[in-house]
Amino acid sequence: MKAMVLESPKEMSLNTVSDLQPKEGEVLIKNTHAGICGTDTKIYEGKIPANYPVIMGHEIVGEVVGGDTNEDIKNGMRVLVDPVFFCGECFQCKIGNTNLCPFGGLMGRETNGGFAEYCVARKNYIYPLPTGFDSKVGAAVQVLTTVLHAQNKGGIIKGDTVVILGLGVTGLMHIQLAKAKGAKLVIGVSRNQHKREVALSLGADLVISHGEEAKRIILDSTDGVGADAVIECVGHLSVLAEAIDLARLGGKIIPFAIYPSGTAELPFYDFYFKELEIINVRAAKGKDFEECIKLVGEKQVDLAALITHSMPYTQLNEALTMLMEPSDERLKVIMEMS
Ligand SMILES: [Zn+2]
Ligand SMILES: [Zn+2]
Repeated sequence: MKAMVLESPKEMSLNTVSDLQPKEGEVLIKNTHAGICGTDTKIYEGKIPANYPVIMGHEIVGEVVGGDTNEDIKNGMRVLVDPVFFCGECFQCKIGNTNLCPFGGLMGRETNGGFAEYCVARKNYIYPLPTGFDSKVGAAVQVLTTVLHAQNKGGIIKGDTVVILGLGVTGLMHIQLAKAKGAKLVIGVSRNQHKREVALSLGADLVISHGEEAKRIILDSTDGVGADAVIECVGHLSVLAEAIDLARLGGKIIPFAIYPSGTAELPFYDFYFKELEIINVRAAKGKDFEECIKLVGEKQVDLAALITHSMPYTQLNEALTMLMEPSDERLKVIMEMS
């Protein structure tokens, strides 16, 4: 089959690789769409470790075309792939933390992923897309599962005041999900005016820029109390410091973005004095997939509005280069296989 193979950082080309042979319990999937994640950009640049040579891509939608099919999983079925694999036997798996399995990993990082004609997935890692569910939109659902996992673990509930720092793809999903969960006041913070407008159109109650203005408006709209929860979606430690500043006494911080490495000063005294809960989150669990397909199917979350580009998967180098350039209007990029 043909695949975009990343041999080493920034060395990627369209290659012919061995055809995939699904084992017992696995199905062969003809990929139709795969989204590009920030993680892919970081793997491409060599900023996070991966098993080179690797076929990246962990936001995968395709059609079952073979392997261990049965009554429930048939050839021709359109499916979304859960790319987070786990052993099912270890301490973490047994307590339900399959996303933290030390023997697991991520397709497209530890094993081959979706920027290819085909992929192989275990039967219990795939989720059928309902009739009428756009496959291109389906490729963005895996991102929403990580957003849902974060808000579930972070305990976002009805009546909360939630501040989202950073209004890229995940920030805009957090805005919509917080509203769907019944948050009373959802405030989006970004320097980018276009993204603030998109956030408003997707249900944010208020949008503002970072800094003093954000603090003043958040205090004004919470009777001087501050936010119940602040979700950091930028990935800069300076923005994490802003999150600590905006949360109320006894509030919660969800550092959602990934901080690959680096050191910076954080207001550690405030951790103590404000008695903040810092809730870290990684990936998602299988159950999040069904719920997210439902949230999108019921139009509680609009993912189509976040997809600004689609390109043939053979142009992955160009797409990643584009994603590394700053842009005010670009959001989700989906690669197409056919
Ligand atoms: Zn991802
Ligand atoms: Zn395990």
